[in-house]
Amino acid sequence: MAAPFGHGFVGMAIARRMGVRSPLGLAAAFFAASLPDVDVPIGAILGKDIHRGPTHTPNFALTAGMLAGMTGILAAESVEGERDLIYDALTGAAVVGSHVLLDKAPYFPDVNIGPRLIGLPVANWIIDAITWGAIAYAIWPKTDAPAPGHPSSPSLPV
Ligand SMILES: [Zn+2]
Repeated sequence: MAAPFGHGFVGMAIARRMGVRSPLGLAAAFFAASLPDVDVPIGAILGKDIHRGPTHTPNFALTAGMLAGMTGILAAESVEGERDLIYDALTGAAVVGSHVLLDKAPYFPDVNIGPRLIGLPVANWIIDAITWGAIAYAIWPKTDAPAPGHPSSPSLPV
């Protein structure tokens, strides 16, 4: 399981790896990666626990992500300024879909020292952010070269 910062960091790194460069696009990726957890506030409004229900299925995550990509919320920028809707849909699907995968990761055991925030010890929020932040750093591209398959990626020599 990852907490919101973990989901956000990994989502941003996936988006950056897929060619999203603008700060606004990366911020959108941060929040889009936590989109399936929208069931938490909705459950609170409804007065029942629906967490990890329909919004945590691959169908929801991939569809919502593809829509986010196709509408340009999560769009890769190409040098020519042209958009590739299919590529952007895949980018969105990868960002939002990462949530479902990260939620399958094992829990960190609760470190019951200090205060709790939204049911989770603050120490666990920090451990989560550091752990998933390190994984996000590993995913983050180390060069400005476009990802393979990216619309502005140079085609292979013939
Ligand atoms: Zn979740």
